[in-house]
Amino acid sequence: MATVLDIAKRNPNAATVAVSDAARAAGFIEKTAELNAVAGAAPGGASLVGLTRDQLKESLAAIGVPERELKMRVAQLWHWIYFRGAKDFVEMTNVGKELRGKLAAAYTLARPQVVSEQVSKDGTRKWLIRMPSTGPLDKGAEIECVYIPEVDRGTLCVSSQVGCTLTCSFCHTGTQRLVRNLTSAEIVAQLIVARDAIGDWPDATPPDGAREKGLLPTDGGRFVSNIVFMGMGEPLYNIGDVIAAIDVMSDGEGLTLSRRRITVSTSGVVPQMERLGAEANTMLAISLHAVRDELRDELVPINRKYDIKQLLDACRAYPGLSNARRITFEYVMLKGVNDSDADARELVRLLKGIPAKINLIPFNPWPGSKYECSDWERIERFSEIVYRAGYASPVRTPRGRDILAACGQLKSETEKLRARARMMAEQGIGAEGVYAVGNGE
Ligand code: SAH
Ligand code: SF4
Repeated sequence: MATVLDIAKRNPNAATVAVSDAARAAGFIEKTAELNAVAGAAPGGASLVGLTRDQLKESLAAIGVPERELKMRVAQLWHWIYFRGAKDFVEMTNVGKELRGKLAAAYTLARPQVVSEQVSKDGTRKWLIRMPSTGPLDKGAEIECVYIPEVDRGTLCVSSQVGCTLTCSFCHTGTQRLVRNLTSAEIVAQLIVARDAIGDWPDATPPDGAREKGLLPTDGGRFVSNIVFMGMGEPLYNIGDVIAAIDVMSDGEGLTLSRRRITVSTSGVVPQMERLGAEANTMLAISLHAVRDELRDELVPINRKYDIKQLLDACRAYPGLSNARRITFEYVMLKGVNDSDADARELVRLLKGIPAKINLIPFNPWPGSKYECSDWERIERFSEIVYRAGYASPVRTPRGRDILAACGQLKSETEKLRARARMMAEQGIGAEGVYAVGNGE
């Protein structure tokens, strides 16, 4: 996914990091970067959208709301901002006129700017979002956010950083020179932007008859029901803000997303996995991609710090792990690199005893990438071995292929595999939290 989410433009305020191919070849694990924007900064500088309860409380205290009123006022604003999607303080009819005036004088409810929206004929939507400037030289970081509707779910793929300090050799985001962490508000704002655009608020209407055209979920649930942190960046390198954003997104009085429908994908930042499970209690996805350390060292260089054994031990210890809450292992299919029968068998052996799902991802090429996507027969054969061992192994269907760069001409074959994914789901092998699979929670 990262490859389709890598249009971040230069952010002069972020650190410039040199990572040449030579540096990569020499075994660079990661770049260093100026990792934090202004902590707690809201999109729009003074926008309240995306803030946590504590940040909202501070913002209210700063304009003189008395201590004894703070809790009640935060609850009111929370409801308007996150339950109703208010865009103007005037809408907040149960907030007194005087306070509304003060709020409007000091703050906004502005969203980050949507630079462009592309809509695929299958309903997939991709937004290029510009975050507000964090300083005089900063034009504002740009990130992409993708919405993938299915009949019974709508999945939003969000970014946690602009760029990524890690340098996975098959990932375009890893080649970007400019990196900074997104604030929790900027992460939450991606969901707000998506809900604005698809009319997913109580009194809103979806655009252009999208619902009637079958371009939105039709199961009566929320249009955005699932979140995957599979956009740009390594979420566990920005864990504080990612957890804060998840708290806002899953708050029962506001955006109300179920934590079980939020999946955080990591390349394997072992020391932070426990904290993610304990504090965010979300589903976990691991970008495994190789079954031998030698190869994983090259594909996912963080493996040189935390090897496969350490990674899988951390998975076994992941809080809340059970058959109903499996870890998803992502495996990108690289021709002649990691796609042999022996690799598939080793994968199954390694994961033994871990409640797992395996998500095979067709490699998505990008200009200058040195890999090719495995042939379809190979993917099918690999999937067969994994499937025989009892694992759901849906191939991540390229969605929105008319608006995203996707891997190869896979359509009809992909549909074949989708049928199998459905069958597995019917057998109770769910795929909750992972997009592009026809079933699951
Ligand atoms: N940094 C996190 C999350 C973002 S990447 C991580 O690595 O898990 C989300 C997924 O997209 C990861 O599994 C990543 O390995 C995969 N990915 C990156 N580049 C890809 C490409 N060119 N083709 C297919 N999948 C890719
Ligand atoms: Fe890409 Fe994820 Fe690796 Fe970062 S950690 S370079 S986003 S695959």
